[in-house]
Amino acid sequence: MNQSVTAIKGVGEKQAEHLKTMGIETIGELLEYYPYRYDDYRIKDLHQAADGEKITVKGVIHSQPSIRFYGKKKSRLAVRVMADGIVFTAVWFNRHFLKKQLQTGREILLTGKWDRRRMHLTVTEHHIGDKAKSELEETIQPVYSSTGSISSRQIRNWITRAFDQYGQAIEEILPTSLMQKYKLMPRKEAIREIHFPTDTARGKQARRRLAFEELFLFQLKMQSYRYITKKETKGAAQPIPMDAVRRFVSELPFSLTEAQKRVVKEILDDLKAPSAMNRLLQGDVGSGKTVVAAIALYASVKAGYQGALMVPTEILAEQHVQSLKELLTPHGIEVALLSGRLTARQRQDILGQLQMGFIDVIVGTHALIQKDVYFHNLGLVITDEQHRFGVEQRRILREKGLHPDVLFMTATPIPRTLAITAFGDMDVSTIDQMPEGRKPVETYWVRPDMFDRVVAFIEKEVNKGRQAYVICPLIEESDKLDVQNAIDIHARLTEFFPQHQVGLLHGRLNQSDKEQVMEAFAANRVKILVSTTVVEVGVNVPNATVMVIYDAERFGLAQLHQLRGRVGRGQDQAYCILIADPSTEEGKERMRVMTETTDGFEVSRRDLQLRGPGDFFGTKQSGLPDFKIADITRDYKALEVARQEASELVQAPDFWTDPEYLPLNNYLKSRGIFENKILD
Ligand code: ADP
Ligand code: MG
Repeated sequence: MNQSVTAIKGVGEKQAEHLKTMGIETIGELLEYYPYRYDDYRIKDLHQAADGEKITVKGVIHSQPSIRFYGKKKSRLAVRVMADGIVFTAVWFNRHFLKKQLQTGREILLTGKWDRRRMHLTVTEHHIGDKAKSELEETIQPVYSSTGSISSRQIRNWITRAFDQYGQAIEEILPTSLMQKYKLMPRKEAIREIHFPTDTARGKQARRRLAFEELFLFQLKMQSYRYITKKETKGAAQPIPMDAVRRFVSELPFSLTEAQKRVVKEILDDLKAPSAMNRLLQGDVGSGKTVVAAIALYASVKAGYQGALMVPTEILAEQHVQSLKELLTPHGIEVALLSGRLTARQRQDILGQLQMGFIDVIVGTHALIQKDVYFHNLGLVITDEQHRFGVEQRRILREKGLHPDVLFMTATPIPRTLAITAFGDMDVSTIDQMPEGRKPVETYWVRPDMFDRVVAFIEKEVNKGRQAYVICPLIEESDKLDVQNAIDIHARLTEFFPQHQVGLLHGRLNQSDKEQVMEAFAANRVKILVSTTVVEVGVNVPNATVMVIYDAERFGLAQLHQLRGRVGRGQDQAYCILIADPSTEEGKERMRVMTETTDGFEVSRRDLQLRGPGDFFGTKQSGLPDFKIADITRDYKALEVARQEASELVQAPDFWTDPEYLPLNNYLKSRGIFENKILD
């Protein structure tokens, strides 16, 4: 299986070169190049054919053919055919020369796309007369995605030969116990069936087996990584003074929710353990992640370490510094901000204090872990909105010789299937409960011509002493237009509300102007804040009860949900008004989802359904693997099972030694999935 594809008859150096660009170098890899669909040449009863389906039918020519020429060299050849007692029209394009073969009464075998309404079959392949048979008849043919000069048919031929020559060498790699427990088709059989299907039921079993295998191998990699990092004791066993932590928690202005208590415990246990924490903390907007972060930082500092909080934007960094200072400074903890707009002098100053250990907690963007930043004794790194940070950052830390405990926080609730796929190497803590007294944000979807009523509604709330956000349309790739929109809407609202201060926030403002506006809004001097999406993450103004989102169809579900999370953070009923006139069905569906649920996990589940896993995070670096055959939206049950089994297997001591797992271990090694060093 590990031989080069050139060992296959008909595959030369040139073809091998081409296959290499498709990620195929060995026979094993070629055999694992699965078809993406099948052409069904089994003869179909026309009564059972669905509209748009590609089918094969056998019939008799029923009339004289007719030809129409149009344009230059273009033609349409049509003939009436009777099959299964139905008369329909077979159509060929640019094949006028076939006309003389189409004599009434002859047998004909046709493959093509069935248009049920018009009773048309657009023919792609045909066989006429005595030859109304083909070698493909009654078969199901795999179709492979191919690039450049290589065709699907060529790949099919090579795979056929590879299977004939080497098929016997395909070994079972899954443990026998799993094969039996989940009634999986043996590997050799499944690979044969996926390329050369015999019938639908067996094809399904083959797919099921191979999808499970793929998910299992992936989870094995993730779980072994987890197992190994846990076994390594490179992290610090932080001596957390639990009494002090309990006191700190009891002095908070509110009591923690049960969910918060649970995740705090999970995190503190990790800090105390000698291995480095690698944990994802997910919780809906407003579920109270910041205070959890503060408790962890408090604990780590009291154990003698420094903490760092990394956030994606400067605005957020400033917000977090403020809330952390409020919580931590009274306890003698020094919190500082490493902002991008410090002067060189100020920056040097802060870096010096950090290195000497005078600063306990530092907050900043990812500039925090840059080359010239040195810590005295870094113990805990927390990153907010982790999906905006790459894996790169962790590598930088390791290269500095640091093995801090790392906590990733995200307010994008990730459906479980995605969480355990993209973050399968991490432990996951979930805050699945809102602080008490929160009322779900009432969400409405209105058409743009109702803007006047929206304004009247804002007025009502503002007169009650509340505040409102108005988020302006996001126009892709045009920061300029975004700003112009915000300016226009700001001007309109200023006119509507002469008695109130209307603020304006957008990316083109300089830092101190931004801060001034935010501060005025937080202090309730500005009643209505018109903004582009810079407020998207993290901003906390509990008195704001109205979130108006202009041209809401331009936003994705995750972003809409994030924006909505800016309100409903206090005790008062809050409202989210989506002004939208979506032209697509998907756009309408997004608006519907928003009005139907305020549960972030539900929103993200529907988002995943609408967009599919590849698109879900919107970034290439999402960490989602490109599965060949498994589909995590469909195979989520298999994914759960695979994870569970993989996790148990890597923890079983004999996995690393027992010859029973030799084929699996060899396979993992040959595919570079991971290497079982103990076995070597
Ligand atoms: P997140 O970061 O998860 O979006 P925050 O940490 O900003 O949420 O919390 C949102 C608001 O809820 C803050 O004003 C915070 O002080 C408050 N809060 C957090 N935990 C609780 C709690 N257990 N009870 C009441 N209020 C809480
Ligand atoms: Mg937050």
